[in-house]
Amino acid sequence: MPIDASPRTRIFVTDDVDPEGVELLTAESAFEVDVVPTLPPTELYQRIGEYDAFIGRSATKVSAELLSHASRLKVIGRAGVGIDNIDMSAATAMGIAVVNAPAGNTIAVAELFFGSVLSLLRKLPAAAASMTDGRWDRSDLLGSELCGRTLGIVGVGRIGGEVARRARAFGMTVIGYDPYIGDERFQALQVRRVASLDALLPDADIVTVHVPLTDETRGMIGRRELSRLPGGAVVANLARGGIIDDQALLAALDAGTVRGAVLDVYVTEPLPADSSLRAATNVVLTPHIGASTVEAQRNVAVDVCAAVRDMMLHGELSRSINLATVSGRPWEQLQPGLLLAQRAAAIGRALLVDRGVPVVRRITLRAGTDLAGEGSALLSAAALGALERVVAGERLNLISARAIAEGRGIELAVGDAARNEEPTSIEVTISGGMESVIVSGVVAPGGVVRLTQIGGFRVDVAPRQALIILTNNDVPGVIGHVGTLLGVAGVNIAEYHQARLSQGGEALAAIAVDGIIDDDLRQRLLELPDVRSATILDFRGA
Ligand code: NAD
Repeated sequence: MPIDASPRTRIFVTDDVDPEGVELLTAESAFEVDVVPTLPPTELYQRIGEYDAFIGRSATKVSAELLSHASRLKVIGRAGVGIDNIDMSAATAMGIAVVNAPAGNTIAVAELFFGSVLSLLRKLPAAAASMTDGRWDRSDLLGSELCGRTLGIVGVGRIGGEVARRARAFGMTVIGYDPYIGDERFQALQVRRVASLDALLPDADIVTVHVPLTDETRGMIGRRELSRLPGGAVVANLARGGIIDDQALLAALDAGTVRGAVLDVYVTEPLPADSSLRAATNVVLTPHIGASTVEAQRNVAVDVCAAVRDMMLHGELSRSINLATVSGRPWEQLQPGLLLAQRAAAIGRALLVDRGVPVVRRITLRAGTDLAGEGSALLSAAALGALERVVAGERLNLISARAIAEGRGIELAVGDAARNEEPTSIEVTISGGMESVIVSGVVAPGGVVRLTQIGGFRVDVAPRQALIILTNNDVPGVIGHVGTLLGVAGVNIAEYHQARLSQGGEALAAIAVDGIIDDDLRQRLLELPDVRSATILDFRGA
């Protein structure tokens, strides 16, 4: 599961990523780091195939075409927050982790917001230009204040929150709309929560958006929304081009219903020289410089380089944005749960195959309360377990497993375990055709993975290098025969758990062994009296 760190791990760093971050990589003897200026795509296509990791900013477009040349690539690091320059689905399908640095430029954007709004309200660009021109135009430069005004923040995340804190210092009233965060955050920031965008607009003297660009937020402030603002309002977009509809904004500025706007981001960047926005009055436009401070560039470089280093050295994937983990728990703490999900799914699939059902159609996972927050990552691990050894020629790992499973028409579902189940339990159901197999387990103290159910049988066994699952008739002597056969073959039995449903009926043995069970040995197990089936799981390297 960890990403291999070989002594020849090669890292490509481009787009002027701050040297303080790059030093974290060059300090590691396991890495060979090349710092290269931003390259034209065709040149990059020729070089990218030699590298295990890529780190850049927004200038280099990490397209599906670039990735098609990146046969060794395992990690893409983005020194910054926006990932719109990365083809996420291509990266995910290829099992390439994508990591960004979402927090490093928060303060820079929050500070630019106030710089830009004050510039607009105090006419600073005109004031500065008039002085350079030798004039002294005080009467033309009557401005207005922030104090006493209401700021409406759409998206009260990292940047929205920092804007709120600073707005209070300016004596503003702050209201916010963000349906995805809890009341506590609003209370802590002393932001009055409003239930909808429509409810925010009529009260906002200044409205600022700090949301990601999604299908939901694209054009979220258009003609109708602008018309709901109070007269003389100011509009700000330092998030992503397209969240505020440019044409609607231009029309409102023209009509004077909106008094001014500050924009740092545009639908097309660079903003075309003939864009009508450049000709608009009462706007302060900046060329996407929200994160352009020395401090922010250093923060994001250090942040992303540390994350790429940890991925390459330790397989630490918790910072990967295409593998969703939400608990914020250290990556090592998640490992036993991921391993259990993966092993349970692998066992379920192997049993299905031995029953003559080679194609998995559905994977259902239910996790106990301690693990429930990691449902998505656990499901990825289960998909990985179910697909391993059946997927050829594709890059299968924790990142790509879900996308590959879905691409093969495997239905995936995750839910919570029943209340009376262990908090660290995981139950995986693998279905195909008319058959389903349930395999459950728990993460025992010390992070040990123990299986507790295989099919209809209760077991208690910790899988080792290999696991033998035998079904047999419940008659005396079978355990002795199996033990003798494995002993003669030099296979050491670590644990042997025998379970049965009723006396004399079908029994199941889960046998954890150190050693390899090859086809010949499996055949000899099957030839033992009263053995009905023998399923072998080889967990070496998995
Ligand atoms: P964040 O994830 O911390 O916060 C975004 C917030 O938006 C979240 O709280 C989320 O719940 C909320 N949200 C999502 N959809 C919403 C919706 N439909 N309605 C209301 N709220 C919604 O992100 P952040 O770090 O604060 O970044 C915010 C924006 O700023 C992003 O678009 C980011 O790309 C942009 N940004 C721009 C620059 C720049 O140079 N101008 C630099 C950094 C970040």
